[in-house]
Amino acid sequence: NQIGHATKDNVKTAVDAGAIMPPEVDGVIHYDGYRADGGYQTLAACVNGERDVEEVVTTLEDAKLRGLGGAGFPAGRKWRALRQEPEPRYVAINIDEGEPGTFKDRYYLERDPHRFLEGTLIGAWAVNAPDVYLYLRDEYAAAERILHKTVADLEANPPCKLPRIHIRRGAGAYICGEESAMIESIEGKRGMPRLRPPLVAQVGIFGQPTLEQNLETMHWVRDVLEKGPEWFASQGRNGRQGMRSFSVSGRVKKPGVHLAPAGITLRELIDEYCDGMEDGHELYGYFPGGASGGILPASKADVPLDFDTLQDVDKSCFIGSAAIIVLSDKDSARQTALNAMRFFSHESCGQCTPCRVGTAKAVKLMEKDHWDTPLLEELATAMVDASICGLGQAAPNPLRCAIKYFPEEFK
Ligand code: SF4
Repeated sequence: NQIGHATKDNVKTAVDAGAIMPPEVDGVIHYDGYRADGGYQTLAACVNGERDVEEVVTTLEDAKLRGLGGAGFPAGRKWRALRQEPEPRYVAINIDEGEPGTFKDRYYLERDPHRFLEGTLIGAWAVNAPDVYLYLRDEYAAAERILHKTVADLEANPPCKLPRIHIRRGAGAYICGEESAMIESIEGKRGMPRLRPPLVAQVGIFGQPTLEQNLETMHWVRDVLEKGPEWFASQGRNGRQGMRSFSVSGRVKKPGVHLAPAGITLRELIDEYCDGMEDGHELYGYFPGGASGGILPASKADVPLDFDTLQDVDKSCFIGSAAIIVLSDKDSARQTALNAMRFFSHESCGQCTPCRVGTAKAVKLMEKDHWDTPLLEELATAMVDASICGLGQAAPNPLRCAIKYFPEEFK
């Protein structure tokens, strides 16, 4: 579990040491390029009093910008709520990105890192935060170098007064992507979710109200404020609003991060953005939201992909961070559900019994040739009802979907 963290003061980064960026991050937009494209002008306008907090928050609300880490809570409403809490308030940016199949935050961080940082600093201005914490997953070594360079470049040539910016590294624990476990980790403690209430927005870092947002949410703030709320809100499809960065992996010709309208269907996403299925593979099913968001069969490939839309189809499914894993007729839903349960069992923080014992017990039951489905269903209900956090509550989703939608695998 999460035991280590580091600050920019005590980490000698490869950037400090003059290392060259790794090949996969060539093409990153650094400070000069970002400034040349008008970067940090919106932040400076905010800090220098040319923009009003109320107007900025209203713009985010009108844009329908939602938390893109998975929960989908409206960003503007969160900013507004924070402003009602007592000071000092802090900002924490979640770049832990541990959900299997998700890699969009890394994608943006490795290409245009100042954009999310500007959005973050606008958030800090809006809630009057003196300190900003950037929490990065430890496995993102290349991204860490970029992040340190990005912050160092900005601090060396600030466009306006800045809050203190702290970089914190995770240590490989999936659970530290859960916002309250991340807060614990930032404080230097073992990363375990807190019981709520109180919410992180009320009692966050060091007991103070904290604006917690995902990297991608902040990535869009500058564009929304410069181009207007309609620009973002008008881009949805099938009755939905906004854009989503889909991390697509699996049996498609062109996997990767695809920026597409919110509400696009899986079939449209594969056909229009992924160049279709891989040769020789037929669509069989898909994980719509990483390992946590369940598994849907090919017959549900025409459902709009967005927050709230999938739960209407099946309460065990959600889009979360928009990590789409495409399965073909060469794959097994039963096997992928077992893989997911093994993952949750490994990553359970162990704090509560339904999750710690439930995931391990489920793995044992799912490894048998014959699944005892009534017993697995009973176990799933206990985990969903009694686990403290989303890990234990969502762990049975792939299991339940495999039983429900792929019965032929259990004959
Ligand atoms: Fe930890 Fe699992 Fe309980 Fe969450 S549900 S607090 S991960 S044991």
